[in-house]
Amino acid sequence: MIIKKSQDEIRKMREAGRIVAEVLDILEEHVKPGVTTEELDRIAEEHIRSRGGIPSFLGYQGFPRSICTSVNEVVVHGIPDGTRLREGDIIGIDVGVILDGYHADAARTYPVGEVSERARRLMEVTLKALEAGIEACRPGNRLGDVSHSIEKVVREGGFSVVVQFVGHGIGREMHEEPQVPNFGPPGRGPLLEPGMTFALEPMVNEGGYEVYVDQDGWTVRTKDGKLSAHYEHTVAVTEEGPLILTLP
Ligand code: MG
Repeated sequence: MIIKKSQDEIRKMREAGRIVAEVLDILEEHVKPGVTTEELDRIAEEHIRSRGGIPSFLGYQGFPRSICTSVNEVVVHGIPDGTRLREGDIIGIDVGVILDGYHADAARTYPVGEVSERARRLMEVTLKALEAGIEACRPGNRLGDVSHSIEKVVREGGFSVVVQFVGHGIGREMHEEPQVPNFGPPGRGPLLEPGMTFALEPMVNEGGYEVYVDQDGWTVRTKDGKLSAHYEHTVAVTEEGPLILTLP
């Protein structure tokens, strides 16, 4: 069952989403060669708590940190540690916040200094895919239209969509029904109605779509060792169309 939210609940998710966006903006200034992912985690947690929020990921199924930091061939769920970023890396950072009982969740991929043309294109296509998915979040469309819009942009860009991990409903819980795949045929799945809230999150690989989970039980990597990018927004379906909740 997809839990629809009242306007008041959506306002609460918007406030949580504002903190998420602030963290992603702040981190942008700190993503530089030499910084460790642990330092980024500390900066994020401090800001979330200073705004009265709680990091959604900390302790979630035992996850040990407040944000996920996924460098280069890491797709998602990388654990912040002493790893120093190097010129030319790309890093996906995923941030979730609970405020007043409601979650918001977003991610961006950042270049570390100058990155290759191919890395830049991978990031651009992934962001465009997310934007296409958001655009499809309107009443009268079906969930499959959202999934299909995302996949179409990725395919046209010549990259591959990760199928093993998907987007999700979000609200009082970080992960609610339904699953939101980043692929599939249009015109299928549940009809979208005002009040539905989704975390859309295309994970896009430079090479093949296959991924595996590292021995740490979290870190998801591309099987071929090539790059992966990840962007995410929390979005509400409204009468007027899609409303992005994770903006500053
Ligand atoms: Mg998510």
